[in-house]
Amino acid sequence: MNTSIIGYPRIGGLRELKFASEKYFRGEITADELEKTAKEIRKYNLGLQKESGLDYIPSNDFSFYDGVLDTAFLLNAVPERYRALGLSTLDTYFAAARGYQSESGDVKALAMKKWYNTNYHYIVPEISDDTEIRLVGKKPFELFDEAKAEGVVTKPVVIGAYTFLKLARYTGKMTAKDFAKDTAEAYKQLLAKLGTLGAQWVQIDEPSLVMDMTAEDITLFVSLYKDILGGKGNVKVLLQTYFGDVRDCYDELIKLDFDGIGLDLVEGKKSLELVEKNGFPTDKVLFAGVVNGKNIWRNDYAKTVDIINKLSKSADEIVIGTSCSLLHVPCTLANEEKLSEDIKKHFAYAQEKLGELAELKKILASGEPENTAEFAANKALHSEQRSGHNAAVQEKVAKLTDKDFVRLPAFEEREKIQRERFKLPLFPTTTIGSFPQTADVKAARSSFRKGELSAEDYEKFVERKIAECVALQENIGLDVLVHGEYERNDMVEYFGECLDGFVFTQKAWVQSYGTRCVKPPVVWGDISRSKAITVRWSKYAQRLTDKPMKGMLTGPVTILNWSFPREDISLKESALQIAFAIREEVLDLEANGIKIIQVDEAALREKLPLRKSDWREDYLVWAIPAFRFVHSGVKPETQIHTHMCYSEFADIIKDIDDMDADVITFEASRSDLTILDVLKANNFRTQAGPGVYDIHSPRIPSKEEIKEAIGKMLGRIEKTKLWVNPDCGLKTRGVEETVPSLRNLVAAAKEARDENS
Ligand code: GLN
Ligand code: ZN
Repeated sequence: MNTSIIGYPRIGGLRELKFASEKYFRGEITADELEKTAKEIRKYNLGLQKESGLDYIPSNDFSFYDGVLDTAFLLNAVPERYRALGLSTLDTYFAAARGYQSESGDVKALAMKKWYNTNYHYIVPEISDDTEIRLVGKKPFELFDEAKAEGVVTKPVVIGAYTFLKLARYTGKMTAKDFAKDTAEAYKQLLAKLGTLGAQWVQIDEPSLVMDMTAEDITLFVSLYKDILGGKGNVKVLLQTYFGDVRDCYDELIKLDFDGIGLDLVEGKKSLELVEKNGFPTDKVLFAGVVNGKNIWRNDYAKTVDIINKLSKSADEIVIGTSCSLLHVPCTLANEEKLSEDIKKHFAYAQEKLGELAELKKILASGEPENTAEFAANKALHSEQRSGHNAAVQEKVAKLTDKDFVRLPAFEEREKIQRERFKLPLFPTTTIGSFPQTADVKAARSSFRKGELSAEDYEKFVERKIAECVALQENIGLDVLVHGEYERNDMVEYFGECLDGFVFTQKAWVQSYGTRCVKPPVVWGDISRSKAITVRWSKYAQRLTDKPMKGMLTGPVTILNWSFPREDISLKESALQIAFAIREEVLDLEANGIKIIQVDEAALREKLPLRKSDWREDYLVWAIPAFRFVHSGVKPETQIHTHMCYSEFADIIKDIDDMDADVITFEASRSDLTILDVLKANNFRTQAGPGVYDIHSPRIPSKEEIKEAIGKMLGRIEKTKLWVNPDCGLKTRGVEETVPSLRNLVAAAKEARDENS
């Protein structure tokens, strides 16, 4: 049984590509020097894969920024405004990725979107009516040749025609199907050329097949590939899918002339069933994605062997591989110097996953996998009681009943009680939580972490910043204040560090977009709160003012979604454990005199399953209750806020209302106001603060434009339910923009108030 991976991380074990690219952007190194670093990374990765014994080694999985953008450049789908800059190909590429500003031109970057259900973001190709799709790029050929010169005949990887056309944005009248013929022709040429260069297999990635597909989508997919495969010549074509199963098009897919089909058996909950029930053609190779490409835990060989055995009943030839590209996991455990062996032995990053594939190959080849030493060692590892086990927490979660998720009294009654208590003016003004994380804040945190600043001095520093922030907000005239979040650099990491059960890595960087990487915490064990986290800061801040001070917490769904989750218990169980801990903090804040508590769920929407039909049963069914449990124990007069960084929740509007918060703030300034119509149409009950200006831009909004935004909102939200606030936290902004922007916000709210009361 052979082995394959879909792709390998390209950023480098110590983020060498990131640092080199950033130096290039700053003009500190030349294009040749950047290319040299890139080449070294590719060579190193190739060596690792070769040494590990991997049979199908990918090429063209390398990218200077993003694989979808690479495909746009490969296919000549580059908007004229970038070409017109007259830059080198590399710089044109970076201009499209990041935007470009100099005397010779000023263009914004192409849009960026989340890559399916990952935390990776791709660049959205833009196709206009006069875009001429044709094969113009050279990268797949050059990288194939480069590896060949190192003695490896690789499997070139490209994003497929269907996925490319589905992800693109069409600026004119024409749509995907109008470009199908030219696109198919370009892929035909690509296959032919790779064949001439000596490629035996080519991997075509079609993750869009795991989404809900309409009849029209299926027709587009089938027609594209009838055309493309008609010209494949001698090369074998692997159609690779990932991030789910292909239930909508499986029957059509297996009839096409592919030589291999790659299915995700980790996230694709119907993949096995499709193969077992609908069969698998004898003339094709099944590439079985059994090693999780998205998480950092060791593979469970017993489970994998079982899946392979089941698949073997239907498929004649199987290649074992990863569930998706290893782009979504960190490079290597070798750089984790601080993690103990006891922890590390449970982890497998990209490099260690290569080792797992080699072991799986060996034990499956033995004919008696269960009798191999590798199998036994893996079994022992998985049956070991890991540290971080907390029976009390498990028991508490197991004992939850329906009424634990219900806050009493009901919303309307609480609303009355809270109006009496707070006596807030019409259109109360507030902010989302953080204030500018200025250089002094970052410097103090860094000295504290290095041990140069004592805990006591650091705490004094944070208190001083809080006091300044409170005074500033009073001076500006905001109604509900925040403490500014100076004690945290990141809304998830901070809580992870303060809770028991998380593990923090040193070098587990994963590419998020371009040169930006994230280092998610690992949910290692059962989660609990052994000490108060934010109480001292909120209490301190509240003492400085008579206005209500919002307590500021991150919600359980967001904490979980931005971490590497456990695989030995369900997401639901982990979410409820985290919810318990955050609930304790909520109750603690309340007991310490905090009257308004905001629980941010910035990432709630982003982990919605890819298929709409799975939204409720796989996700919302536990995500919404986890949030409800966080606040169901507070008194009627305590006001619960939540915040979301997006407003595309038209489809889940009822679920958002069902979170049963008293107030929700969300982004609205960049998107049109359609969400407000949806709120109105659905009788949205929660009080709402749609952001009145965009904090992602350094622009200072005028009072008039904020008033205009308020005016538009008033047509759709009852005036007694409308809050006025920016659209997100201010931590990335400078003081010089923040202060005038907030002054304009308060002035606009006051005028609107006078006109409406
Ligand atoms: N309270 C957080 C802040 O203001 C919310 C951040 C976010 O929504 N991403 O920074
Ligand atoms: Zn936000």
